[in-house]
Amino acid sequence: MPSLFSDIHDPAARVRALCEYGCKVEVDKAIPPRRYFRSGVEMLRMATQYHSEGDLESAFVLYSKYIALFVEKLPKHPEYKSTSPEERERNKKKMVQLFPLAEQVKKQLKERYSKEEELRQIEQRRVEEELAKQQEQERIAQEEQRANEEQRIRNEQERQYKILQEQELERQRQLEQDKDKIKNITGVIGGVTIADAAVNIPISPTAPPLGPPPDIDNSSLPPPPAYGEVYSGESKRSDIYKKVLPDIPSRDLKPVSPSAPPASDTGAITAGAGSVIPEYDRSAKPNLDHFTSVGASTSNKHGLRSVIVPQELMVKFLNIARSNTDRNIETCGILAGKLASNVFKISHVLIPKQSGTPDSCTTANEEELFDYQDKYDLITLGWIHTHPTQTAFLSSVDLHTHCSYQLMMPEAIAIVCAPKYNETGIFMLTPEYGLQFVANCTQTKFHPHPKEPPLFEDCCHVTLDPTASVTMADLRR
Ligand SMILES: [Zn+2]
Ligand SMILES: [Zn+2]
Repeated sequence: MPSLFSDIHDPAARVRALCEYGCKVEVDKAIPPRRYFRSGVEMLRMATQYHSEGDLESAFVLYSKYIALFVEKLPKHPEYKSTSPEERERNKKKMVQLFPLAEQVKKQLKERYSKEEELRQIEQRRVEEELAKQQEQERIAQEEQRANEEQRIRNEQERQYKILQEQELERQRQLEQDKDKIKNITGVIGGVTIADAAVNIPISPTAPPLGPPPDIDNSSLPPPPAYGEVYSGESKRSDIYKKVLPDIPSRDLKPVSPSAPPASDTGAITAGAGSVIPEYDRSAKPNLDHFTSVGASTSNKHGLRSVIVPQELMVKFLNIARSNTDRNIETCGILAGKLASNVFKISHVLIPKQSGTPDSCTTANEEELFDYQDKYDLITLGWIHTHPTQTAFLSSVDLHTHCSYQLMMPEAIAIVCAPKYNETGIFMLTPEYGLQFVANCTQTKFHPHPKEPPLFEDCCHVTLDPTASVTMADLRR
């Protein structure tokens, strides 16, 4: 089950974050408090469902929302005083039951998070040990490689040194031979001293001046220069000696320090429990709705929970609406259903007492509707209406009607049946634009809205079920 704030390690902080998330509920002054009381009933209905399914997080978020809404936010609504005292009293009683329930779920969540954290720390230690072992192996391998290379360089140095020695010996031998030749010439001339002239005789034009020869009598060679000398270029040997050394790449490029692993690989591991908790940008998601669950990470583009619509629903509704449709009068109904495994299933269409025109429909006596929903534990999931003469779309009045549904329940849908055009639309306000635009629009009756960007769209979270059945509850009679 997906979980919110799973990157907060401290169990208490994680529960706190969940609670804060739930409490971030806003009250829209345009929606009468009476509707919020209705929402509260359904909110608890859903919370109970989540609780019974073991989805404690979603249950806890809803409990937190409920408490924040009715203790803190709704009493500030300008029309709060106009609500019935009975309703407020009923709500207060519910709150008394709710507080210990929320506390109990909170405790359970904290225990669960503590267990998760324990497991996480065990896993973290395992990963750290693994890493340390790996680094030690790497260090040993590098050490070996370094030793091998040092040996190779020492061998090369010795070889070069021997070549130089032989060259020097050869030069000395050549010099001796030249001296002998001069001696012989001196012997031939006899009595004439030309020894000084010998100095100017080019004795070995091919051999460059070599500086002072090394001590050739010393058969045991001095040890090759220490490594550091070679790298730093400060060898105490002669320049010639240095010139024959191969270029040795610097070893400073890759510092090996097992105590300081690279941050990129192990950053997440080294941040243990009790470390600084990252900030969450909870402002990123508007939280007008009261029903958002935490488990609602679904595949559709808005992250909405799925709504299953029985395919027969539209046909059955059109049948009930036919007498109105034939007279060019709209009919409307309420879509209601249940939540199970984080999926909404529409199971009922409630047709309340109403008065329709060719392009509008107004419901009456909502209490009857609420009683029916309470009797069958139904959650409001949207509405349906006919367009007897027009195509399937949402008029400006429809948009305002739907806005209050969708503000209360982000998954709420609007089904429009246009039998004359054999069209059916399943719409919602675009959550990122249309919903707020219409919520802020103060106009009533039919009025123009800007066309772009679009205010409503086809629902991406609705699935038609050809096998599911639906109950039509006609409350008009
Ligand atoms: Zn309409
Ligand atoms: Zn408007």
